[in-house]
Amino acid sequence: MVDNNKVEVIIVGAGPAGVSAAITLARAGKKVLIVDRANNTGEKNMFGGCIYAKQTAEIFPKFWETAPIERSITEHKIFMLTDYNSTEFNYRYSSKGSYKAFTVLRSKWDKWCIEQAQKEGAYYAPKTLVKELLIENGKIVGIQTPYEKFYSDIVIIADGVNSLLAKQIGLRKNYNDTNVTLSVKEVYKLPKQRLEDRFNIDSETGVAAKILGGPLKNMFAMGFMYTNKDSISIGIGVSLDELKKNKIKPYELLDDLKEHPSIAPYLKDAEFIEYSAHLIPEGSIDNIPKVYDNRVMIIGDAAGFVNNIHFEGTNLAMLSGKLAAETAIYALDKSDFSASTLSLYYKKLQDSIIVKDLKTHKNTIPFLKKNIKTITSLYPELACEFFEILSMADEKPKRAKYRKFVSKILKSGCITKSLPLGLFALEKCLKK
Ligand SMILES: Cc1cc2nc3c(=O)[nH]c(=O)nc-3n(C[C@H](O)[C@H](O)[C@H](O)COP(=O)(O)OP(=O)(O)OC[C@H]3O[C@@H](n4cnc5c(N)ncnc54)[C@H](O)[C@@H]3O)c2cc1C
Repeated sequence: MVDNNKVEVIIVGAGPAGVSAAITLARAGKKVLIVDRANNTGEKNMFGGCIYAKQTAEIFPKFWETAPIERSITEHKIFMLTDYNSTEFNYRYSSKGSYKAFTVLRSKWDKWCIEQAQKEGAYYAPKTLVKELLIENGKIVGIQTPYEKFYSDIVIIADGVNSLLAKQIGLRKNYNDTNVTLSVKEVYKLPKQRLEDRFNIDSETGVAAKILGGPLKNMFAMGFMYTNKDSISIGIGVSLDELKKNKIKPYELLDDLKEHPSIAPYLKDAEFIEYSAHLIPEGSIDNIPKVYDNRVMIIGDAAGFVNNIHFEGTNLAMLSGKLAAETAIYALDKSDFSASTLSLYYKKLQDSIIVKDLKTHKNTIPFLKKNIKTITSLYPELACEFFEILSMADEKPKRAKYRKFVSKILKSGCITKSLPLGLFALEKCLKK
């Protein structure tokens, strides 16, 4: 166990970020202690959710051979809902030989991950709530739990979205209502064979679905649905300010979503087994705090590393954990734990997809928020109307239907002046 309560690195939080850092350090032969407040690792952690094969395999090579994965994702689906109808887009691919993503359940997955870290030599202390960072003579020297002090040269903060520890040392502020999303999720059990028939998948493959519109229309909100081995995860994420503005509870929105005629059949006769809720940082480059200081680094959700546009979080958490651990190894080797040495972590982040992708999407979320009615209400409506025209054989002439459809698009203003030349031409042609 830990001698004199002193190790080289302490990591607070055994989620994907913390465990990746712990494994990377343990593999380099460093003395590392990882602590988590949970009695059973992962029991209170929740996500959608998919883990991504690439970054996960960098920490756990060929993990799919032994880890508790649910299904390999082979279909991405987008539901565009109106009040009663839907248009659905599916992308199906073969996973043979190159896996992209897997569904997992966090309670099983997180437990397996921490066991791997322990096998590699990391010390693990569950049921250990960190009250604060231990600061002596102005220096961060470890952590304070309700009963004990633990000392280290470096502390890595991986305590998730609320990160009380990063706030304690002034590196982070609270999120406000506009830059954090509240997510609620339910899990429904369904016999394996029925689930596979229902989603048109085989015993290994699975579906990841995103849901736009319907009860979530006109709000910065999105639904999701994932297939597990013998259960379905369904949930929504909605910006806190939307909930306040619309005076609506997130579980009411989820209930409405489950009752939508295009969603309800997936859950029919399935048994409700779990409810959970969690915050998701908005994941904007503008909200990234300073992620290092003397003797300390911040990783994962605690640093706001989430790419909401692509539903990525665990991969960024794992990658940031690895980069922080590599920096800690460098600092330990030269016995220099100063902010200047640990700034290497930020340089590594800048060269990685974490900062690059967040920069790419710098303006995406503001754009989506500005155009949210168009995206979540008008587009689903137009998509469904298009298929209505295509599929309805009645007494009305097609030309009148097309004209009505095209002029609705033009009047909506959803297409800016630079784009609609083709549509104007089409409208002119249909008028003749
Ligand atoms: C609804 C939802 C859906 C999502 N879907 C996806 C998805 O499909 N794919 C994806 O890649 N990402 C997804 N994410 C994001 C992803 O879950 C997170 O980005 C990821 O879990 C962050 O990992 P982390 O290790 O930084 O934090 P966490 O996973 O939150 O882990 C933090 C850990 O710190 C511990 N802790 C906190 N405070 C203390 C303390 N004071 N003392 C001791 N321990 C403490 C907690 O118990 C916890 O174990 C989703 C998130 C949500 C909420």
